[in-house]
Amino acid sequence: MTVLDIDGIDTYYGNSHVLHDVSLTLAEGEVVALLGRNGAGKTTTMRSIMGVTPPRRGEITYRGEDIVGKAPNEINERGINLVPEDRRVFPTLTVHENIVLAHKLAADPRPVEEMYELFPVLDGLRRSNAQNLSGGEQQMLAVARALVQRPSLLLLDEPTEGLAPVIVDDLRTMLQDVVEQDVTVLLSEQNVTFAFDLATRGYVIDTGSIVFEGSIEEIREREDLLEQYLAVS
Ligand code: ATP
Repeated sequence: MTVLDIDGIDTYYGNSHVLHDVSLTLAEGEVVALLGRNGAGKTTTMRSIMGVTPPRRGEITYRGEDIVGKAPNEINERGINLVPEDRRVFPTLTVHENIVLAHKLAADPRPVEEMYELFPVLDGLRRSNAQNLSGGEQQMLAVARALVQRPSLLLLDEPTEGLAPVIVDDLRTMLQDVVEQDVTVLLSEQNVTFAFDLATRGYVIDTGSIVFEGSIEEIREREDLLEQYLAVS
């Protein structure tokens, strides 16, 4: 079953035309990667889905419903959750308070304790202020805040951004557990090897247009794509 169907969207910032005829679909339970360099349009695609920068043309259908023009909170209420690049945890609240707050705001949340089972690192940091966490720990907290709301579609925008390689390994292990759960994921990444480990299908985006779509195996074999559009040579 199709969870999300983006059909030919064009998104602008003022007069600046950023996304050009972007189409993308996600089926139930899939983990799909959106791959591209800095500035390619990954974040703008996520923001278009969330209703933060709605497209001026094209359609976005979520579980059969047209969501273009709906406010971000209405889109969130339908089960779509974005973990933004800048993580946006509440810095002066503790880890526990951050998770509890997200839990309280959800209509059908998961138990808070399940998040500590999924992210044992956070269990030991319950009473720490979020601002004192490392980048990797903050990323885990941001994902836990999203997951406790029992999203049906999780949008992860460059979760590895700014993280040390050893932390990226930890995050990969934890996200592998997350994606085995009942959630569909769109993962935006510049770190292609990270995305290859989690996703089964991918789209390559460059200057606001999708330039390739295929299985991760197909993308992995296309050295020309990796060199031209992704940060691997
Ligand atoms: P990054 O890793 O830098 O976030 P990205 O693939 O997510 O890369 P976007 O953030 O979607 O890329 O940016 C796509 C294009 O839109 C870039 O050219 C960027 O400069 C431009 N852009 C992003 N945000 C704005 C904005 N608020 N106003 C104007 N232009 C913007």
